[in-house]
Amino acid sequence: MARLAQTADLTDVQQEILSTVRSFVDKEIIPHAQELEHGDVYPTEIVDGLKELGIFGLMIPEEYGGLGESLLTYALVVEEIARGWMSVSGVINTHFIVAYMIRQHGTPEQKEHFLPRMATGEVRGAFSMSEPGLGSDVAGIRTKAVRDGDSYVVDGQKMWLTNGGSSTLVAALVRTDLGADKPHQNLTTFLVEKPAGFGTVAPGLTIPGKIDKMGYKGVDTTELVFDGYRIGADMVLGGEPGRGFAQMMDGVEVGRVNVAARACGISIRAFELAVEYAQQRETFGKPIAQHQAIAFQLAEMATKVEASHLMMVNAARLKDAGQRNDVEAGMAKLLASEYCAEVTTQSFRIHGGYGYSKEYEIERLMREAPFLLIGEGTSEIQKTIISRGLLKEYGLRR
Ligand SMILES: Cc1cc2nc3c(=O)[nH]c(=O)nc-3n(C[C@H](O)[C@H](O)[C@H](O)COP(=O)(O)OP(=O)(O)OC[C@H]3O[C@@H](n4cnc5c(N)ncnc54)[C@H](O)[C@@H]3O)c2cc1C
Repeated sequence: MARLAQTADLTDVQQEILSTVRSFVDKEIIPHAQELEHGDVYPTEIVDGLKELGIFGLMIPEEYGGLGESLLTYALVVEEIARGWMSVSGVINTHFIVAYMIRQHGTPEQKEHFLPRMATGEVRGAFSMSEPGLGSDVAGIRTKAVRDGDSYVVDGQKMWLTNGGSSTLVAALVRTDLGADKPHQNLTTFLVEKPAGFGTVAPGLTIPGKIDKMGYKGVDTTELVFDGYRIGADMVLGGEPGRGFAQMMDGVEVGRVNVAARACGISIRAFELAVEYAQQRETFGKPIAQHQAIAFQLAEMATKVEASHLMMVNAARLKDAGQRNDVEAGMAKLLASEYCAEVTTQSFRIHGGYGYSKEYEIERLMREAPFLLIGEGTSEIQKTIISRGLLKEYGLRR
């Protein structure tokens, strides 16, 4: 894009990565996205291409074979990929969160064991907090692990695992009753290694099948059932139980920047489609872009794209600078996802009846945008996080 969503002060390396990814998206993703999405087909060739580009190891430190890039680089790459097809950004997102959690919280052995193979994409990550009875209320997790000698025995059901079938490593948050007063202090993250696939993939571990979704197709989203599943105590993330909630929240915080970046990518694409269509379609003797009502829609859409992009970049840069970004990541996610729903709807309306046809890309974007209002915490949860942070910051001194 010539003018919108530019980012100041990028290094030469960042610019090179982004231009490589953009041309990959234009050549390898956009031309195939419609067909793969409508057929709910896993984008194997696209994923292989991303592996070759090193995208699975983008933020993994160089000592473990990754590119050692920043959260900002990662977020800008996600923005480019989601501009092509959100499902592809879904393939890398859970992987990125799990790699980040291992990098931040893993024992030296866990880092050595997983990160080099995650950098190449040989090991692919999924993360699992949600259960059939809860999503927002994470501290209420019921799936339980009970210590038995050198291992734990896990029972319970998890829900909504993006990449549940295609991944080979699941970071799963479960209850380990440690007697702590606060429920979230009894939660532990386990690093569950498994083969890719569906059905009973290991003794006591079943991935029942793909959930049929409204959009976000191609990438698999699944349940996961533990039934007397035995896992070694060395697979507790960081080695000590009871730290899972904080570890997951750290992962979800960077995940929120990523969801904001996805929303930016989809909004950019929706704008591109609208601005092109509005100059081609004529009504009442002139291109619809020359009707002020449509031109103003374009102006509003572009303004929303800019605001979302700037907030997303700000949240990523704060994290990269080692500062807290919980409020800023929540704001970026809230604004970018709500604007994305608006911008895709505006683009859809500009397309008139054709927007309702499956031949037009905007039909797919319309089904992708709503997920962003839910994933990595709903808008209501973002407002809770933002207001809590602000009240702490602006609390009255008594
Ligand atoms: C396609 C898809 C992929 C997903 N991938 C993953 C994944 O990879 N890993 C994973 O762990 N989860 C995943 N999820 C789950 C997702 O994180 C949850 O759906 C989300 O957190 C919301 O939880 P819920 O669906 O249980 O809704 P609920 O928590 O039941 O919320 C229902 C409604 O109530 C509102 N609400 C809840 N609590 C409050 C409150 N205190 N104040 C005000 N309003 C409130 C919510 O905002 C929402 O509008 C995925 C979901 C989808 C749809």
